[in-house]
Amino acid sequence: MIRNPLDILAKYFGYSAFREGQQRVIDQVLQGDDTLCVMPTGGGKSVCYQVPALAMEGTVLVISPLISLMKDQVDALHQLGIPAAYVNSTLSTEEYFGTMDLALAGQYKLLYVAPERLDSESFLNQLQRMDIPLIAIDEAHCISQWGHDFRPSYRNIHRILDYLNTRPIILALTATATPEVQDDICQQLHIPPSSRVVTGFERSNLVFSVVKGQNRDQFVKDYTIKNKNESGIIYAATRKAVEQVHAMLEKNGISVAKYHAGLSDHERQRQQDRFIMEDARVMVATNAFGMGIDKSNIRYVIHYQMPKNMESYYQEAGRAGRDGLNSDCYLLFSSQDVLTQRFLIEQSPDPSRIPNEIKKMQVMVDYCHTEGCLQKHIITYFGEDDAENCKRCGNCTDTREQFDVTLETQKVLSCVIRMGQRFGKTMVAQVLTGSKNKKVLEFNFDKLTTYGLLKERSAKDVADFIEFLISENYLQVENGTFPIIFVPEQGKEVLLGKQKVWRKGEMVTTVVAKDDPLFNELRALRLKLAQEAGVPPFVIFSDKTLRDMVAKMPVTDEELLTVQGVGETKLARYGEAFLEIIQSFSAQQA
Ligand code: ADP
Repeated sequence: MIRNPLDILAKYFGYSAFREGQQRVIDQVLQGDDTLCVMPTGGGKSVCYQVPALAMEGTVLVISPLISLMKDQVDALHQLGIPAAYVNSTLSTEEYFGTMDLALAGQYKLLYVAPERLDSESFLNQLQRMDIPLIAIDEAHCISQWGHDFRPSYRNIHRILDYLNTRPIILALTATATPEVQDDICQQLHIPPSSRVVTGFERSNLVFSVVKGQNRDQFVKDYTIKNKNESGIIYAATRKAVEQVHAMLEKNGISVAKYHAGLSDHERQRQQDRFIMEDARVMVATNAFGMGIDKSNIRYVIHYQMPKNMESYYQEAGRAGRDGLNSDCYLLFSSQDVLTQRFLIEQSPDPSRIPNEIKKMQVMVDYCHTEGCLQKHIITYFGEDDAENCKRCGNCTDTREQFDVTLETQKVLSCVIRMGQRFGKTMVAQVLTGSKNKKVLEFNFDKLTTYGLLKERSAKDVADFIEFLISENYLQVENGTFPIIFVPEQGKEVLLGKQKVWRKGEMVTTVVAKDDPLFNELRALRLKLAQEAGVPPFVIFSDKTLRDMVAKMPVTDEELLTVQGVGETKLARYGEAFLEIIQSFSAQQA
């Protein structure tokens, strides 16, 4: 048995060094200290308990609320040659007993369980007969009522400790926990504050951008077409929006799946599998999708609408680029989103939570309006006060030219006033573009001096411009049965000629990953092998590993072992097939 963590990392995982924080967590755990590890998504939390599992005698118990993740994790461990299993509600009685027999015989290095399992006395009795040196609690923020994803059964975790003959070490792990939630986790699991390992929340491979006052459908369409070989998620706030975006992309020939609570369990599973197995490149979903998805090569996450709070946003956007390669996170903001989210929050079954939820949503709105560094804005929210500008995000790199749109703005504002400040943006846009719509004529708006003032532009275009004016506070929305726009103080200043209005050019979509013929060949081989093995492609090798192969062009087994993410088991299993592709590619180039 190898005891040295670094040797284990190299032999099984194929990595040559620990990342920031991993070494400290592993050292603490191996010294016997209970630990809280707060690391961003993709930071490498799994390694923090998987490496100790290989260095310790017995079976590490991993508590995870995410059933689909358990299967993927166990599949991935098998690919690495590490014996592991899971018990959750998807197992038949027979499978369950089969797994537990092997667990009792000490056959696994890791056993994943759902927290609800710990409510069962008979299960706890079985754990008593196992040798458990370490309990890893994944998604540990679920233990805290202050967190955004409280799970009551997490409160029972400490009960296990009373059952076991020798007290195991506790390792709690989470990606999204404010300092308040961290305190709560430590208190409940009796983890001393000094044993907290919090690495930066920054995700240095993610490029955050907010797109405001632009046509969202056009943006999504352009982006997905430009990046059609890459996997991405598009989050929308409602089922209706998911259906609509899904239909639009399908019509444009994008291979796309969808996921929301209105689909049957079976259909949701089918759609999820299509995305994970790369039968569909794009997933359009509500926030019901994603917990437990550890597909590492998601190259972009686009929020079609503003999400409800920063925790949800960072968690959802953070599903991009787990493999460490550059990935995009766009948030497409429209003022209407604030109303949608407010409406959703007000549906909460627990009214006492509403004020806090509204406050959290306001922070999200601030994010959409900041001109400062977006990554810094996020990590400051999570309690890092010494963050620097990231120099990557849409705001840090914004070089778009500004245009003076004061005259146009005056035309719009004056039209809003002449219409009595009683209508929504669509109607205002129709009047400005000189529409002969029945309602426009009924109200005699064709007699207004502002009628047709912007007739050279389309109504959609003008509506987008109004949207821009709302997002910059030159217009405001009042909520009644229908949202009505009116001119606030700032707008009046523009009408009086005291303030100018500048608008930046449109944000253009970019290509997130460079196209490379050898990478594409390796990717095709990976897909074929994954289909044969019945596992998701990223479980065979990550995109990062394939990119490293392209960079290093290994010829021998030894050289292949120096590629990030190629350990001994994978070398034995897949080395030959990949080397063959690289070799024939080189021959063609020669
Ligand atoms: P998390 O659970 O924190 O979201 P994972 O454990 O899924 O992150 O790790 C994210 C990715 O980083 C995985 O592909 C993993 O194999 C890789 N990884 C983890 N540790 C290292 C390391 N020390 N060197 C290189 N890659 C690593």
